[in-house]
Amino acid sequence: MTLVLVSNRVARPKANEPINGGLAAALLPAVTASGAIWVGSSGKFIEGSEKREPFAEIEALGTGALATVDLPAAQYRGFYQGFANSALWPVLHSRTDLIRTGADDYAAYREINSIMARALVRFAKPDAMFWIHDYHYLTLAADLRRLGIDQPVGFFLHTPFPARHTLVSLPHHRELMNAMLAYDLIGFQTDEDRANFAEYLVCELGLPMRGDAVLTERGTTRLATFPIGIDAPAFADRAARSITRAEVARLRASLLGARLVIGVDRLDYSKGLDTRFRAFDLALSSDPSLERTVRLLQIAVLSRSEIRAYKQLQNDLAALVGDINGRHGEVDWTPIRYLNRGFGQSILAGFYRTARVGLVTPLRDGMNLVAKEYVAAQDPVDPGVLVLSQFAGAAKQLEAALLVNPHDIEAMARAIRTALAMPLDERRERWTAMMKVLETSSLTHWFSSYVAALKTSGNATPANDRRNVAWPAFRRLQIEPAASPAY
Ligand code: UDP
Repeated sequence: MTLVLVSNRVARPKANEPINGGLAAALLPAVTASGAIWVGSSGKFIEGSEKREPFAEIEALGTGALATVDLPAAQYRGFYQGFANSALWPVLHSRTDLIRTGADDYAAYREINSIMARALVRFAKPDAMFWIHDYHYLTLAADLRRLGIDQPVGFFLHTPFPARHTLVSLPHHRELMNAMLAYDLIGFQTDEDRANFAEYLVCELGLPMRGDAVLTERGTTRLATFPIGIDAPAFADRAARSITRAEVARLRASLLGARLVIGVDRLDYSKGLDTRFRAFDLALSSDPSLERTVRLLQIAVLSRSEIRAYKQLQNDLAALVGDINGRHGEVDWTPIRYLNRGFGQSILAGFYRTARVGLVTPLRDGMNLVAKEYVAAQDPVDPGVLVLSQFAGAAKQLEAALLVNPHDIEAMARAIRTALAMPLDERRERWTAMMKVLETSSLTHWFSSYVAALKTSGNATPANDRRNVAWPAFRRLQIEPAASPAY
């Protein structure tokens, strides 16, 4: 069995550099250990009428491999900035007010999907299985089927899936959702996401469900929930060791005994940074004992800054932080340290461990790996407290966190104060409960249970047995010259 993973971007392991989002954080170790091949955009683009081989490079990644594709510049912008990130992303995060999509964006989205499908043909060995990741490639399976590929093709959505009445705001929603039925298995982060998708299929498309599968013209598409996990023991180990690192030591020394509250996010409107800052502001105003004794460190890594909504958010947040620091600050104390840069995960692990409170308060989030990493990084003897939005996928699993409604600023301010005052016994009890969840719902479990389900979901392949091995080992593909012409 050969497994081919596809996502918009791929990632390479780079010591001391931030990882660009949860998808990369999950797939990088998974591909490295499993022998799978991971295909995505090279980040280099084919200009104008240039015609050439789309595959830029194939390189080793642990026991697996990376294959990167040069995509055409003309369509990439409409695909990525346009339809994927200014129509799909806002709708999937229930922000229909932020849909901004041009007339050509959808055509560009479909075109990039079909180009990627043509680039994948070379991997379609008889024993191949394709696992497509995330909202950039909703229609890839339909394109693969048109090219005659009948091997199992699965999809996993890393983002939330919204309620039906929200999804119908998405231009071309019917065509997109119909195209998704070319997948054999569609995986979601939570049962709620899966139920929303099923409701759309039944109520909007009038399709019949049979148990966990929808009946389609091709056969069936299975819907299932696979909450993505982290390698908690590895993260805990990293956190324990990172305490001696220079950056972590500097942070600790700079606190001068004050307690640290930490937030770590991409700078994205789904992350609820605005209401988080307002809640911290309110906590300070409502409890003067917090002045000078608590600091918030917010790491907000710049993301998609070429899109107007993100640029606007960046300006708004900078102004808000300036306002809060201006009102509460002293000559020797600034309540919020606000950084628009990222850190490598080893350093991040030490930052998490230093913080008495982890603030993870997205308005909507598929899973949110930062929440899980914060828990895994704690010192078991003196663990910190996770304040977690009820609208993050992680809240369905980490019920022992302090769960909050991120729209309710007063309730969040109260939760921050409760977390800071929580006695050690309660902190340990909550942390132990959350660590149990992280250990059973690991990254390897996510990966191997999805792959096992995909093996038995194909319409064209007989059911295999469901052995649940730790990391399924896949035979390395022999890469042959492209059979399909360059586009
Ligand atoms: N991350 C990182 N350095 C940073 C900030 C974040 O490596 O400075 C990583 C973080 O450890 C996590 C991922 O980026 O693994 C963010 O994933 P999450 O699911 O929380 O959010 P997403 O960005 O995918 O929406």
